[in-house]
Amino acid sequence: MVVTRIAPSPTGDPHVGTAYQALFDYIWAKKNGGKFIVRVEDTDQKRYDAESENKILELFGWLGLSYAEGPDLGGPHGPYRQSQRLELYRKYADQLIESGQAYRAFETPQELEAIRKELLEGGKRAGYDGRARNLEPEDSARRAQAKEPYVVRFKTPRQGTTVVQDELRGPVEFENLGLEDTVLLKADGFPTYHLAVVVDDHLMGVSDVIRGEEWLPSAPIHVLLYQALGWPQPKWYHLPLLLDPEGGKLSKRKGNASINRYREMGVLPQALLNYLGLMGWSFPDGREIFSLEEMAQVFTWERMSLGGSAFSWDKLKWFNGKYIREVLSLDELTQRIQPFLEKAGYTYSSEQYLKQVIEAMRARFETLQEFVDKSGYFFHDDYPTSEKALAKLKEGGAFLPELLELLTGLPDFLPETTEPALKGFAEAKGVKAGAVMQPLRAALTGSLETPGMFEILMLLGREPVLKRLARALPLLAD
Ligand code: GLU
Repeated sequence: MVVTRIAPSPTGDPHVGTAYQALFDYIWAKKNGGKFIVRVEDTDQKRYDAESENKILELFGWLGLSYAEGPDLGGPHGPYRQSQRLELYRKYADQLIESGQAYRAFETPQELEAIRKELLEGGKRAGYDGRARNLEPEDSARRAQAKEPYVVRFKTPRQGTTVVQDELRGPVEFENLGLEDTVLLKADGFPTYHLAVVVDDHLMGVSDVIRGEEWLPSAPIHVLLYQALGWPQPKWYHLPLLLDPEGGKLSKRKGNASINRYREMGVLPQALLNYLGLMGWSFPDGREIFSLEEMAQVFTWERMSLGGSAFSWDKLKWFNGKYIREVLSLDELTQRIQPFLEKAGYTYSSEQYLKQVIEAMRARFETLQEFVDKSGYFFHDDYPTSEKALAKLKEGGAFLPELLELLTGLPDFLPETTEPALKGFAEAKGVKAGAVMQPLRAALTGSLETPGMFEILMLLGREPVLKRLARALPLLAD
């Protein structure tokens, strides 16, 4: 059974890389009829952020990446929060001490600092020289018994190489000499990432570890730990990094890595996943628009390239626009837009009206927020007037009083009625239709970029149209 997992650390706002990894975890499990699980790696108490776990789990819900086990769902291998599994890590750390593959190290922070300096001065890499390997086991046990603080360190081999069989890269070799005797268990009883990740992936039955390339340098330690514990290794896949279009890493500091930011701007989860699916991977027939189901059906790792893909806001917006225009049903689009309108404080007389407005605007916005920003005049009278619109208003404003009269006299505001009336008006004045429509548009919407005039007249309806026109007249004077 293929079991994949994502193991986020709850240290802040969810990162685009988390969604990226979760997508491939989800797809690979789905493709194989396996399961995808979530484990929270909350052992770094200094960086722990209590809100973060909820935000991450909620995000998977929003994305529609459902998982079979997790901290909120439970499951056969729980708990799924590492801070609740401390006894397990201690048990395996003790087992490694007993089998001579790990050892207690009692150095104080000051002593460690002195060792680091000594190594540096001797022209070596700063770190730890493994001196506590030489403690007599009885001594070590006695000092632990006497409650002297210690960490447990892994006895990494000093010679040879460790090979990580990466499914995407083939064998990747690491010189063991470069691996420090890494800490497995800290003095406060918390495990480090290395011990916890291996113990949990094993106990939770994870068969395929799919994660970001930034974890590849840690993989030899994990391979050695699996060996030391006598456990079969999972398959390893290290996904290419997501880059920003300038070539750097995506970073929350630069503001381009926070999923919630994209979400707040009104990016659709389907569009985000679709775009992420094209980061390093491509659909066999080259299509750009595909669903999770379609991706899972044809997914193979052979189509994954490792160069690292640029994650660009412009491209994501393009995908989002495509989903808005061509993929989403009007019902779903409406549902997605409603919370954005609510947040903006916009109200509307009926859902049917809202749907008509959305349909009219559909080609004109690429994010849900953009819909709100561009369509305010459909929801309230207090819309701003752009400079260009104001200029048009003044230019053709002379027509407005007569237009007001003309519109007042119309029996209804259906396009069949307004179109011949307005066109006839322009003709009678000997001007092009635009010379009449533009100032009218400016008066009714404050903008020159709107759906067609007859559609707007119909949607707004008589009363607001006449009110807005009357209101625009004094603007012409100044
Ligand atoms: N807790 C690590 C993270 O935040 C997990 C790394 C891994 O997948 O092994 O990404």
